[in-house]
Amino acid sequence: MTVLRKNLIDGEWLGEAGSRNINPSNTNDVVGEYASAGPEEAKQAIAAAKAAFPGWSRSGPLARHAVLKKTSDEIMARKDEIGRSLAREEGKTLAEGVGETIRAAQIFDFFAGETLRLSGEMVPSVRPGVGVEMTREGVGVVGIITPWNFPIAIPAWKIAPALAYGNTIVFKPAELVPESAWTIVDILHRAGLPKGVLNLVMGKGSVVGQAMLDSPDVNAISFTGSVGTGKRVAAASVEHMRKFQLEMGGKNPLVVLDDADLAVAVDCAVNGAYFSTGQRCTASSRLIVTEGIHDRFIDAMKERLDKLVIGDALDAKTQIGPVVDQTQLKQDEDYIAIGRQEGAELAFGGERLERETPGFYLRPALFTGATNAMRISREEIFGPVANVIRVKDYDEALTVANDTPFGLTSGICTTSLKHATHFKRNSEAGMVMVNLPTAGVDFHVPFGGRKGSSYGPREQGRYAMEFYTTVKTAYTFAG
Ligand code: ADP
Repeated sequence: MTVLRKNLIDGEWLGEAGSRNINPSNTNDVVGEYASAGPEEAKQAIAAAKAAFPGWSRSGPLARHAVLKKTSDEIMARKDEIGRSLAREEGKTLAEGVGETIRAAQIFDFFAGETLRLSGEMVPSVRPGVGVEMTREGVGVVGIITPWNFPIAIPAWKIAPALAYGNTIVFKPAELVPESAWTIVDILHRAGLPKGVLNLVMGKGSVVGQAMLDSPDVNAISFTGSVGTGKRVAAASVEHMRKFQLEMGGKNPLVVLDDADLAVAVDCAVNGAYFSTGQRCTASSRLIVTEGIHDRFIDAMKERLDKLVIGDALDAKTQIGPVVDQTQLKQDEDYIAIGRQEGAELAFGGERLERETPGFYLRPALFTGATNAMRISREEIFGPVANVIRVKDYDEALTVANDTPFGLTSGICTTSLKHATHFKRNSEAGMVMVNLPTAGVDFHVPFGGRKGSSYGPREQGRYAMEFYTTVKTAYTFAG
């Protein structure tokens, strides 16, 4: 029997059955049933967050520390169960699901610590007898809108700093992954958050998300998702003169130079392009390879890809789980067809796979002979599809790497200190990796990109403070 998971509004679990959550590894498996909020509930949630803000913003570090620490501890204690449930609803492997859950626990732990470290500055005024204080305060009601590909880590890295710095929240998770969102909210609620501080409104982006964008009472929005929705968030936020932060797509390059360690390069490419079924905004979808290593690299890639175990996310042997749903699978297949029409050669994979249970299984696809002008090199596919672009030398590799509307991550595989250093300085990306996959980041340092990938202050680590607080400058004449 499936339990109905409800929305949390002003401290009450509310709502009727709205949508079913399907396991992409086995479409006969219903993960659960979830309430679907309408515009009225979104308004109630926003009003509750607004009413809770004065109390929470003045609650002091200990109250916030207690909730965040307790949340971290419970997530960590339940990592296997929560990680499994995440893998079941999203399709990433068990190891990836548990790893992501541990990451969420680490993030709550980090921001629990940050509540105790918030500091300000005090300086003498240019006017004698006057002191000037610079302090940080919460922004108010924060709208948090998240995508399906990191069902627990992305909500964690937005909710934890928002709460740590005294904000109240209306949280709208992606429709495909309500269980992970509900779980994290349930844990935070039981950890002792006062009513109204955190509200969960599961439902459609065009309804609940839009109601958040249209409300003058939402003071800031942190969004991760597609470029199209990101632009809507931006336009609506400008209209309401509110703060906003966007994390959107990527078309991340991994450069492989002649002097690279071949085994390291193949590890980076396979991990970066295909792990989590390629459904990471930091995935390496453009493999830019110099002539001297090109053929050896492709042979080694095909050999490695052939050994990957693609199957049910909940099977411990699986290395690549299914695509998240039918819509995404169709998008992946459409791009594979487009790549062929454009003249790239499908050197490996790209076909649908049958497994014991009905699911959205796709063999990782590798294109060779691609150019950087092709649509498969310019548009984000968001699936297990990567293409090799052959280049003459490092200079051409750097030019091609930077020739993209996106700028989230980039990587280079080389044993040359000169090229590694030059690439770190000249890559037009927010995060640069040397001899490491473009995906896979630390939780205590800034995350974010440039150009069409991101907008606004960085997320994560101490840099998160920039978005979730506003600075106050206070002058005192003490006589
Ligand atoms: P993806 O392709 O990753 O699903 P979306 O941008 O469609 O990217 O979705 C990311 C998040 O944005 C989801 O939670 C989705 O429900 C939400 N969303 C979609 N449309 C809107 C909208 N008009 N207003 C606000 N949020 C939206």
